[in-house]
Amino acid sequence: MKDPRAPMIPVAQALEIVLREAAPLQPERIPLREAMGRALAEDVLADADQPPFPKALMDGFAVRSGDLRDVPVELRLVEEITAGHVPRRRIDRGETARIMTGAPIPDGADAVQVVERSEPAGEGKVRILEKVEAGANIAPKGCEIRVGQKVLEAGEPLTPARIGVLASVGRAQVSAHRLPRVSLAATGDELVEAERTPPAGKIRNSNGPALGARAKSLGAEVVDLGIVRDDPETLRDCLGRGLQGDLLLLSGGVSMGVHDLVEAALAEAGVEVFIRKIAIRPGKPAVFGRKGSCLVFGLPGNPVSSLVIFEVLAAVAIRKMLGWAKPEGELVEAVLEEEVRQRAGRTSYLPGRLRFEGGSIFVQPIRSQGSADLLAHSRADALFIVPADRESISAGERVRILLLT
Ligand code: AMP
Ligand code: MG
Repeated sequence: MKDPRAPMIPVAQALEIVLREAAPLQPERIPLREAMGRALAEDVLADADQPPFPKALMDGFAVRSGDLRDVPVELRLVEEITAGHVPRRRIDRGETARIMTGAPIPDGADAVQVVERSEPAGEGKVRILEKVEAGANIAPKGCEIRVGQKVLEAGEPLTPARIGVLASVGRAQVSAHRLPRVSLAATGDELVEAERTPPAGKIRNSNGPALGARAKSLGAEVVDLGIVRDDPETLRDCLGRGLQGDLLLLSGGVSMGVHDLVEAALAEAGVEVFIRKIAIRPGKPAVFGRKGSCLVFGLPGNPVSSLVIFEVLAAVAIRKMLGWAKPEGELVEAVLEEEVRQRAGRTSYLPGRLRFEGGSIFVQPIRSQGSADLLAHSRADALFIVPADRESISAGERVRILLLT
């Protein structure tokens, strides 16, 4: 059971401790197809200008803009240039080449007139109907990326577009931080696995699947240690295995009850505990510590509490291990649609539904019976934050929200 005198620390301080203790994992070289969601462990420079040649941005005709002073004008068609091929000759006065999007602009031409502003004018000729400015519909060499330019920075998590940038600068392999190995165990004598019909007095383990899914969605490799009984020996075995990884997530067993054995088991296993109680609602009894390079979260058993503490703290630790330069959750502001009240002293993270109207995000509180009401929580798009020093927030006031995606 928890020491009742354990200090209750503010959320911001808990976050600082987690960020202090978590460290980026070693870099390794990986192929691009494995890079999604991982963070770069190196800066990436462009190997060449992009585009590498002046390029047509539209299908049409490569022209000398000076030839189009008096339109309509007939020009002699000298060739057709398709993407992937080089022009065979330059464009002289009175000449043009049919050109496709992405093809190199021939020497002599300084603009592309789009095919819609032309009409056929018999064999080997085209009539251009409107003039164009010099440079129209041409992307100059190097206008997107310059050779040697830093295109991506260490610590940036890789998105589809960034993976595209890596491919475009020839990086088929990149250096990224190793994925964290996260072990997961749900403690509680009352728990049975989801496929079973719970006998009298038992309930199904919902925290294991929920936390495992979230850890996996962040990129962690999850080792599920299953259900662990509230008994010191079983817990000891579980810690023996779980502390081999980079992060151990335990749920349950961190409250004031006599069968809440997690903190004692952590102490016995040599885990240094930094956090025993947080000024947060829900999730006050959350525990955080470290043994060697393995971080440990003792999450409260209540299903909503465990998911909230995961989102507010464990997700940040995982992103830091993944090497993200900014591991904190993205906070957005929204307008509260209905008054909420709380007892001051703890920061609340409450479930809300989002709506977008007239350029603002609105958040509607979801009625919940509290930290056991997983169904209400499952309907939330976001958690909205009620600061510890506030007893109420009125409808129309702005609140910070943590997106749940
Ligand atoms: P505890 O933190 O162990 O005191 O548990 C608090 C509450 O959460 C109790 O009602 C437990 O039955 C419930 N609980 C604990 N672990 C789980 C779990 N893995 N899945 C669903 N509910 C749980
Ligand atoms: Mg329990």
